[in-house]
Amino acid sequence: MYNAKSSVAQEFINHEEILSTIEYARNNKNNYEMINDILQEAEQMNGISHRQAAVLLECDDKEVLTKIYNLAGRIKERIYGKRIVMFAPLYLSNYCVNGCTYCPYHAKNTTITRKQLSQEEIAREVMALQDMGHKRLALESGEDPHRNSIEYILESIKTIYSIHHKNGAIRRVNVNIAATTKENYKKLVEAGIGTYILFQETYHQKTYEEIHPTGPKHNYAYHTEAMDRAMEAGIDDVGIGVLFGLYDHMYDFVGLMMHAEHLEAKFGVGPHTISIPRIRPADDINVDEFSYAIDDALFKKIVALVRICAPYTGIIISTRESQKSREEVLKIGVSQISGGSKTSVGGYEKDENSDENSKQFDVDDNRTLDEVVNWLLKLGYVPSFCTACYRAGRTGDRFMRLAKSGQIVNVCQPNSLMTLNEYLIDYAKDETKILAQNVIDSELEMIPKEKVKNIAKDYILQMESGKRDFRF
Ligand code: SF4
Ligand code: SF4
Repeated sequence: MYNAKSSVAQEFINHEEILSTIEYARNNKNNYEMINDILQEAEQMNGISHRQAAVLLECDDKEVLTKIYNLAGRIKERIYGKRIVMFAPLYLSNYCVNGCTYCPYHAKNTTITRKQLSQEEIAREVMALQDMGHKRLALESGEDPHRNSIEYILESIKTIYSIHHKNGAIRRVNVNIAATTKENYKKLVEAGIGTYILFQETYHQKTYEEIHPTGPKHNYAYHTEAMDRAMEAGIDDVGIGVLFGLYDHMYDFVGLMMHAEHLEAKFGVGPHTISIPRIRPADDINVDEFSYAIDDALFKKIVALVRICAPYTGIIISTRESQKSREEVLKIGVSQISGGSKTSVGGYEKDENSDENSKQFDVDDNRTLDEVVNWLLKLGYVPSFCTACYRAGRTGDRFMRLAKSGQIVNVCQPNSLMTLNEYLIDYAKDETKILAQNVIDSELEMIPKEKVKNIAKDYILQMESGKRDFRF
C-alpha cells in the first residue's frame, strides 16, 4: 500500500503506485485541459505531484514541450538567477565488494587498477584541487567495509578540511558513500559534512536486484531507506538521484519524484539536491547491454520536469555530460556542475592518462575548471564557489524556509560574487579574469539592498590586501 510517510521502502516507493501513475499518464496523454492546469499550478513554484509530472513527461506535443521549457527556465531564473555552483568529485578508493553490473569498480572486474589513497596522497589531491580554485568537493568511494571503513572516510574528511594551501581551502565536503548505519551517519555529521549523496540507481526493485547481484548493495530496502537513516541521524541535507538508462525512464522518474515527496512528507524537508546522471561507457561495461538509455531530448525534458517538481532543490549534472548537453540543461534547471573533474583515484595530482585504468566512467566534458568558468561567464552565468549556507547553519528546513521565502537570494547573490572574486584573484587565467571582473562589477550594482551591496563591495576591496573567506 502506498504511503508517502512510511519508513518502509516498498510503501513510500510503491510499485503499484508507480504503475498506476504511468497508466494515469498514458490515459491522459496530451490531455490539454489537464496539462494547462498542471502548468498553471506549477507556475506558483510550489512544485507538482509525481502524477502531474508523469502526465507532463508523457506528453509529446511540441508546443507543450516549449511551454515546459519556458516554465522551467522561468523558475530557474527566479530562484537561482544566473548563479551556477561549482564542485569537483574526489575519488578516494575504487576497492568495492559489490557486483554492480554498470560500474567498472564492481568486485569481479580484474582488469581495473585498484587503488586507495593514503592520507598523504589525499593531501596532495586536495592541494591540486585547491590550485585549480575548487572550494567544494564530493567525496566518492567504493564500498569495502575493511579497506574503506568509516574510520578511513572520517580521517580523509579531516585531512581534506585541514589543508590550506596558499589561499586555498575546501570549505564543504559532500560525501557519496555506500548506504550505512545510523551510527555511521552520526559520525559523518560530527565530521562536518555538507550533503550526504546516495544514488538509488533504479527504483525498480527487480531490476535493482538483478544489476546488484552480489554484495551488501543487493539489499534494495536497506539502500532505499538509507536517506531516512541519514536524516534521522541528523544529516540535514541529502542528495538523491537515479542513473538513467538502467531501467524504464518513466518508472525511475516517478520513483525519484516519490522519493523526494517521501522525504518532504516524513521530515518536512525534501532532498537538498537531485543528480541526473546517464549511463556512460567504462572499462568492462558495455553500455549497449542497457537498452533503456535516454537520448539528449528526453534527458533535457527530465531535467526541466525535475526543476518544475522541486523548484528549491539543487539539480546537479557532472562531466559525464558533453559541453553541448550541459549548455542545454543549464538554461532549464541545472544549478550545480562539476568542472575539471577526474574520475580516477589519484587523478588530480597525476595526469589522468597515467591512471586511465582506475577511473569510474568516461568524462565527456574534459575542459579545465578555468575553461568551464570562462565558458559559463561567456554564456552570461555567474560561476559561484559559495559554500556559505552549511557553514552558517542554514541547512535542512532552515535552508528551505529561506529558499521558499525568496530571501536566500539576498545571501546567494553577494556570496557568489565574492567567491568568484576570490577565484579571479587567485586562479583565473587572463581572459577569464577580465570576463569575471566585468560580471562582478555589473552584478554588484544589481544587489537590491543598499547595505548588502556596500558590505559586499567593501569585502571585495579587502580581498586586494589578501583577506579571504567573507560570507553572508
Ligand atoms: Fe561499487 Fe558503487 Fe561501483 Fe557499485 S556503483 S561497484 S557500489 S563503486
Ligand atoms: Fe548555496 Fe547558500 Fe551559497 Fe546560496 S548562499 S550559493 S544557497 S551555499
